Amino acid sequence: MGNGFNGYQRDAKRTLNDSPADIYKLANLGMGLAGEAGEVCDYLKKVVFHGHSLDKEKVCDELGDVLWYLANLADAVGVPLSKVAEDNIEKLKQRYPHGFDQIRSQKRAD
Ligand SMILES: [Mg+2]
Repeated sequence: MGNGFNGYQRDAKRTLNDSPADIYKLANLGMGLAGEAGEVCDYLKKVVFHGHSLDKEKVCDELGDVLWYLANLADAVGVPLSKVAEDNIEKLKQRYPHGFDQIRSQKRAD
């Protein structure tokens, strides 16, 4: 695997099933991202409410599936994965300059 987020993004493209039209590609990737996030959520539901023991490897595997769709969706819209990560951290620094704060969360405008 390549270096960092952008190396991952490049490597993830190798197994992308290219759709003929861009809109179908975006739909495939967006739905896939939501589906894999749903798999994470469903697994955690089983841990929290069904008494399953927490398997960190299972969580890691599903997070990898989320990452794959995320990397390819970012690529499809021409955004380096490193920019996604850096912009998110910058947004959170602006939103919570001293770490998470419930009051700031409740009074958020965005
Ligand atoms: Mg999965």
